[in-house]
Amino acid sequence: MKAYDVVIIGGGIHGAGVLQAVAASGHSALLIERLGLASGTSSRSSKLIHGGLRYLESAQFALVRESLRERAIHLKIAADLVELKSFFIPVYRDTRRRPWQLKLGLWVYALLGGFDASTRFGTVPKSEWHSLDGLETHGLDAVIRYHDAQTDDASLTRAVVQSALSMGAELAMPASFIGAVLTDDGVAVNYVREGASAECTARVLVNAAGPWAPSVAGAIQPPIQIPAVDLVQGTHIVLPFALTAGIYYVESPTDGRAVFVMPWRGATLIGTTETPYQGAPDKVQPLPEEEDYLLAVARRYFPAFRHLTRDDITERFAGLRVLPAASQAAFDRSRETIFTTDREPRPRVLGIYGGKLTGWRAAAAHVLERIAPSLPPRLRRAATDELILRRPT
Ligand SMILES: Cc1cc2nc3c(=O)[nH]c(=O)nc-3n(C[C@H](O)[C@H](O)[C@H](O)COP(=O)(O)OP(=O)(O)OC[C@H]3O[C@@H](n4cnc5c(N)ncnc54)[C@H](O)[C@@H]3O)c2cc1C
Repeated sequence: MKAYDVVIIGGGIHGAGVLQAVAASGHSALLIERLGLASGTSSRSSKLIHGGLRYLESAQFALVRESLRERAIHLKIAADLVELKSFFIPVYRDTRRRPWQLKLGLWVYALLGGFDASTRFGTVPKSEWHSLDGLETHGLDAVIRYHDAQTDDASLTRAVVQSALSMGAELAMPASFIGAVLTDDGVAVNYVREGASAECTARVLVNAAGPWAPSVAGAIQPPIQIPAVDLVQGTHIVLPFALTAGIYYVESPTDGRAVFVMPWRGATLIGTTETPYQGAPDKVQPLPEEEDYLLAVARRYFPAFRHLTRDDITERFAGLRVLPAASQAAFDRSRETIFTTDREPRPRVLGIYGGKLTGWRAAAAHVLERIAPSLPPRLRRAATDELILRRPT
């Protein structure tokens, strides 16, 4: 039976990141992915590598600081895949967040980003509003411009796995994790690969199965404690009209939530929603009322979309956020990654719940720190904040 230092379940951005971090630290690693890389949440995000301006409203300063640091690292190591873009926040007479509030927020954003050139912001002069993709100007008081970054989430995930494989890590795909048994100093892992059952051992099993993480954790014997989480569905739609100036960060006319309207592959991507979800993660799909909610956003801000209906949507997808269980609205809940272990200080199982696409590298570095006491010493191969990521071919 093959023995690995670390076996990782789930080929989303978190599993990819941990695979890369473990390989870079000189340890042996196997990633088990059931369908395809980024086939879950990591291809259904808003595709932003961002500080998360709105998290300032819920005082998640540490998250914003770390995210801005990770954004800067991405712009250096993944220039092929991550692009800094202009973001526009139009402020109308009835917009809830006023220009002074937004500018104060952007000043804090710049402070947390170390006043780097990419954190500069300002107001778009009225004489330039005509260049904003036909943005509705009736009742428009001001347009604030700042910068954040956009990526292709699935390509980024594949690029990180590629980086890990180039350092000797292994990938089993398609392969499904079936169960694991804890031993004194590790884990015996069962999985099915191409229809045949397979086994291996690991010093540490990392559960990076995203919305499926609770069911993966439930297949570990003896049972381990897992955090209480809620699944919250987020839908995006694609409309056939190309925005070119940048990304628009607007308030939904329905409930005032912040929604992105973004250029995407020659069309426009609009998202997202926050709908509590109770079903099986595999079954998640956009709901008609979510599509209507997003169409209302498009129509409110861009006359070019006013005649469009649900029949004009060219693509739609829904993903699941994993959030700490709570009674408050999903929008206000922490977006910090939750890490759990079966025991300390030498964990045999580590679970990653929730988190952000933007924070995958920092999350993976944290995982490595937490599991280091369970791993034998090895010679480090590389530092992940220096490994260049290339767009996979
Ligand atoms: C609507 C939405 C928008 C978002 N937008 C952004 C954004 O713009 N920027 C940002 O930074 N973050 C964003 N996020 C958050 C980000 O997308 C997620 O945090 C991230 O993609 C989670 O990745 P993951 O690897 O944990 O999970 P996933 O990507 O879901 O990966 C889990 C993987 O586990 C596999 N798996 C499950 N069970 C098994 C099994 N038994 N055996 C083998 N494999 C298994 C699945 O096939 C899947 O590939 C968004 C999230 C949502 C839902």
